[in-house]
Amino acid sequence: MTIQVLVHGGAGALARGRQEAVLAACRAAVEAGVARLRAGGSALDAVESAVQSLEDDPLFNAGYGSALNRDGQVQMDALIMDGQTFNIGAVAAISRVKNPIRLARRVMAATPHHLLVAEGAERFAAEQGIPLVPMETLIAPQALDAEGSDTVGAVALDGEGNLAVAVSTGGVRGKLAGRVGDSPIAGAGGWAENGLGAACATGVGEGIMRALLSFRAVNLLAEHSPQAAAEAALALFGQKFKGEGGLIVLDGAGRVGIAHNTPFMPTAWLQGDAIVAQARQA
Ligand code: ASP
Repeated sequence: MTIQVLVHGGAGALARGRQEAVLAACRAAVEAGVARLRAGGSALDAVESAVQSLEDDPLFNAGYGSALNRDGQVQMDALIMDGQTFNIGAVAAISRVKNPIRLARRVMAATPHHLLVAEGAERFAAEQGIPLVPMETLIAPQALDAEGSDTVGAVALDGEGNLAVAVSTGGVRGKLAGRVGDSPIAGAGGWAENGLGAACATGVGEGIMRALLSFRAVNLLAEHSPQAAAEAALALFGQKFKGEGGLIVLDGAGRVGIAHNTPFMPTAWLQGDAIVAQARQA
């Protein structure tokens, strides 16, 4: 049975000096996800592990290293979705959790809800045994620079044919306090649906929400390959919805699609037994 893990490290401008490190981190994230699959884990386990590894890397705008809002604060969003059950777990506007994707998974597994925000989400984290950390410990030195780091996401297919998606972000730099983007919104930041595929979007969240980009891309898989679906969704996103960003797409056969209308979108995925990575769409 084919397995696959495809990750992205955000759509945007990628400073020259950072390319190699960002690609190495994307490869490491795929490796973390694939290790879970090879150990018998599910697609959900794989996307959670892949995203957690990127959250822990200060190169990315997620978890440690999140971008700061206009008040100089960290407010993070994350989403995980199971393509088999359509179960969703998401959190938004949280400031004191090291790995938002872990908390999103707990929302999925341990509540009847799909999205918890702000203080209530943090209280739930503590109840679940996820430690609350001082917000300052999530601020990496480079978050204070103008130069970017970016949102992270992963899609995966496990040996049982199940699909999943996970997304994590600090949101757009300088956002208003309380602003929530596409990332924790199912259908916008991510969507997974067994029988079709999974997609994960990145870029300016408002445009992604207008286009419901991930849902749109997955629906295009009914008639298109993942690459064609990614390109068709991106074309609509850019032209009709005036959006800026990119997306990754995976189908139930493990085929990948990658498209962006920004200069760069680092990605990595499994090809045979090797992990390949690219800084921009081939
Ligand atoms: N989509 C994210 C947001 O708007 C940001 C990003 O993907 O870089 O919150």
